Amino acid sequence: MKKPLLLLALLAAFICASSFTQKPKQQKKPNIILLIGDGMGITQLSTAFYYKEDPNVARFPVVGLSRTSSSKEKITDSAAGATALACGKKTYNGAIAVNEQGDSLATLVELLSLRGYQTGLVATSSITHATPACFYAHVPSREMEEEIAAQLMQSEVDFFAGGGRTFFTDRKDKRNLLQQERFVIETEKLGATDLAAGKRYGFLLAEDGMPKVQDGRKNFLKDATQLALKYFRQQEKPFFLMVEASQIDWGGHANDGEYIVEEMLDFDAAIGAAVDFSDADKNTLVVVTADHETGGFTLAAERKKIPFQGMQSNYADIRFDFSTMGHSAAMVPVLSKGVGERQFSGIYQNTGIFHRIMALAGPQP
Ligand code: MG
Ligand code: ZN
Repeated sequence: MKKPLLLLALLAAFICASSFTQKPKQQKKPNIILLIGDGMGITQLSTAFYYKEDPNVARFPVVGLSRTSSSKEKITDSAAGATALACGKKTYNGAIAVNEQGDSLATLVELLSLRGYQTGLVATSSITHATPACFYAHVPSREMEEEIAAQLMQSEVDFFAGGGRTFFTDRKDKRNLLQQERFVIETEKLGATDLAAGKRYGFLLAEDGMPKVQDGRKNFLKDATQLALKYFRQQEKPFFLMVEASQIDWGGHANDGEYIVEEMLDFDAAIGAAVDFSDADKNTLVVVTADHETGGFTLAAERKKIPFQGMQSNYADIRFDFSTMGHSAAMVPVLSKGVGERQFSGIYQNTGIFHRIMALAGPQP
């Protein structure tokens, strides 16, 4: 190397080194909104485009695919699927935030609370159902909803809304879990009271699952999402919010296309509320994904009878078709927008969503 070049290299090295020794700017930790469509495969997502004008799922610039198999089975259930999302570890079907040996796995709610986050959960199932449960409870079986309810009341969760009152009040141990000091509990409707910063709130608005959209649930999912955002925004602290459209899965199990579409469009409205918040806030990540696909759901061609030729496909129109009453092994979409959105492109295991979120939240102080 010639002398002037060597000097230049030394100078560059010095500038680099000195810029590293400067104290990094204190970046505020990003808010994180994780929206889970239970059973939402690519086809369920596609319905938003065929049955709604300008769906909110079209607002995401980055798309990835998540591989959903559980630790033992090629096809996951919602418990193993949510454990992967909430804890970053594959486990057996039925497990709620425990590994194959039954040891508790730290959840996003627990880990982000330690990093100064406020946390919230919204679901259209019971709040003790497999998907939300994996964010705060640790039990070997998803069936243990009374134990899951007891663990929720001891958890770090600041806000929850969904169904499942029966698991708190009509219990084998005769305890009424709603008689306590830790949470302000509402059982009538959302927003009956003004939510005070720093207090914990729980909304238990149905005995078990919330009603279907078709049976008059109205805008519960979007309203609960907006209520949580309004509540969190009162404090300077960042927040983590999980919103689950639980019943896309139930429509899939029932092989009921209309049920799926109604629940998917309802989910899309909640997604819109999250994206609106993120666009205005500029320090929020929104991720939309699923735990697995349900129903082997297809938008197949409508059939028409052609004289002398029998039944033919009519590509001008679609109809719903299914290949199973259960879940399928298909990959599911991951849509992302906001802080760190680029990290979510590509094809990766469902556990990768947890690791990407934790990387954004940074180390425990
Ligand atoms: Mg679920
Ligand atoms: Zn299911």
